[in-house]
Amino acid sequence: LLQLFIPLNFLGMVYRQIKYSLADMDLIFKLMEEQPEVQDRPNAPALVLKAGEVQFSHVGFSYVPERQILRDVNFTIRPGQKLAVVGHSGAGKSTLSRLLFRFYDVTSGAVLVDGQDVQAVTQESLRQVIGVVPQDTVLFNNTIYYNLAYGRPEASQEEIEAAAGMAHIRQFIESLPQGYQTLVGERGLKLSGGEKQRIAIARAILKRPRILVFDEATSSLDTQTEQAILETMQEVAENHTTLVIAHRLSTVVDADQILVMDEGRIIEQGTHRQLLTQGGVYRDMWLLQQEERQMQLEQAE
Ligand code: ADP
Ligand code: MG
Repeated sequence: LLQLFIPLNFLGMVYRQIKYSLADMDLIFKLMEEQPEVQDRPNAPALVLKAGEVQFSHVGFSYVPERQILRDVNFTIRPGQKLAVVGHSGAGKSTLSRLLFRFYDVTSGAVLVDGQDVQAVTQESLRQVIGVVPQDTVLFNNTIYYNLAYGRPEASQEEIEAAAGMAHIRQFIESLPQGYQTLVGERGLKLSGGEKQRIAIARAILKRPRILVFDEATSSLDTQTEQAILETMQEVAENHTTLVIAHRLSTVVDADQILVMDEGRIIEQGTHRQLLTQGGVYRDMWLLQQEERQMQLEQAE
């Protein structure tokens, strides 16, 4: 009995870790045969995608009852616009993307896509229109090809190569002896954090969702690659509704709207210019990062 108990418990742990990192949940549920916490309502209709507006309306949320994580969060991302969220680690930023994808249900308020409550539509139809580049990408123990095509299995080889190119991972893949057929994951080639992120970006590009979420998607890249990928992300995000959770503020300067979060609340909101003029937390963060950047440049000389 003990022997049986341990692996099951271990699976549960792996499952939670994977869930935490916003991986492709549908597949993981199938693998784990575990009942998801979030369920479709009986006869739930599919989401009717219009222009792709995202709205958080008085959202409150807690993972465990004792600890409130989000408090009265309100914002709207108009179709095609880019909203950036910044704030210290633990502020609740990634939780926003998990609620949009409906990994969890809100405790109060509602998350709406094109005016439809995400709780009222099927998860499948919701997740089809949202592409996520998570903080920590989990790759499947399969080929690079499989990992790239996951978002759209019917994609052609040319489309896959183009997406890999845009995500700055094509050259790397094509330099491998087995190219796109290289096995990755625990039993295959170990990829660095930056390489995994680029695979995830290529996957999102390929999926071509109306709504894109980048969760600190460039955090494990070096500055040069980051800059190149930021440009790609801007191209990709054009005409998409985009939620960017940012670590480095260089990612947010061009956003239509920036939210500063602290302990689950929005404490400042505006464009880069407005927030700099306002002279609050955002401005302090900005000045601090400028200093750090300067120091790095000097060290590099
Ligand atoms: P951020 O992305 O801003 O760093 P998160 O949204 O990931 O923050 O987390 C907000 C808070 O929620 C943190 O204090 C974190 O420890 C907690 N938290 C995150 N995921 C879970 C979970 N699955 N169960 C319980 N608490 C969690
Ligand atoms: Mg986070």
